[in-house]
Amino acid sequence: VEFKVTILGVGAAVPTLQHHPSSQMVTIRNHSFLVDCGEGTQMQLLKYAFLKPSRIRAIFISHLHGDHVFGLIGMLHSFALQGRQDRIDIYGPSGLQQLIDVQMKVTGAQLPFPCVIHQIDCQTFQCIYEDSKVAVWSIPLRHRIETSGYLFREKQVARNIIPETIDQYQMAYQTIRAVKAGEDLVLPDKSVIPNKDLTTDPPAPRSFAYCSDTRYTETILPYIKEVDLLYHETTFCEDNQAKAEKTMHTTAKEAAILARKAEVGYLITGHYSSRYPKTEVFLKEALEEFDRVSLGEEGYTYSLEWKGKRVVKKVGPLEH
Ligand SMILES: [Zn+2]
Ligand SMILES: [Zn+2]
Repeated sequence: VEFKVTILGVGAAVPTLQHHPSSQMVTIRNHSFLVDCGEGTQMQLLKYAFLKPSRIRAIFISHLHGDHVFGLIGMLHSFALQGRQDRIDIYGPSGLQQLIDVQMKVTGAQLPFPCVIHQIDCQTFQCIYEDSKVAVWSIPLRHRIETSGYLFREKQVARNIIPETIDQYQMAYQTIRAVKAGEDLVLPDKSVIPNKDLTTDPPAPRSFAYCSDTRYTETILPYIKEVDLLYHETTFCEDNQAKAEKTMHTTAKEAAILARKAEVGYLITGHYSSRYPKTEVFLKEALEEFDRVSLGEEGYTYSLEWKGKRVVKKVGPLEH
């Protein structure tokens, strides 16, 4: 059952021909979410045709700097042209409602589908979205304007039933559901078969944290503790430490230190400053602090799978 993150953009605010500004698609058991929506995100969604934009249920905007939000109005407008009817929910800092309203009004655009804006409190770690498959939490970040990261946590799945026991005890559908939910089995003679003899543990719920843009801050450690996948911005390398502090960004070294301290499964880098023509330097610097790092690249998908233990599979854009 899928839990995957596809990187659509890893550039920073100054445009380059190498990168697209921030955006990612998170897909959890058929429910899709967009995180940030830099300029041209809709073109990235077209380019990576294995993604299904019509399945996007909600959009999470980290902050209102243009490289994270300038693609939103264009994409919503295109959804309208494509005949979308399903409701969409958009989460982000205060100002988001005004930004959308003004652009809709002066351009005379109208959306034929419900579009509900939720302005969130960027100072608190709290659950802001929940459905049957996933819960999403806000992560307070430190940047030049109100900024929130997002934590996606899969809901606990049902226990695995041992197939032979279904025939052995002639379980009906309702009974199978109850056993998968953790109940013991009561036989007609009132004897009880404990659940542990009927089921095996399901895989632990999977998690992904998105942290961009932000100055290095250890206050996020409890929120990102042991997540399977962490995307943390690495705008600069150590050679621009002063610049990182001044503009409230993070270096590759610092992001890797956070990943190590939070004992995350895997770190993905991104939000690369245009000062660096080659991105390998970010990987090299991060690897000095933490060994499970991957260079965030447009079009690549990180899939969290269970092979007796949690593994991360990185899939290229042409491998779908
Ligand atoms: Zn940015
Ligand atoms: Zn920013």
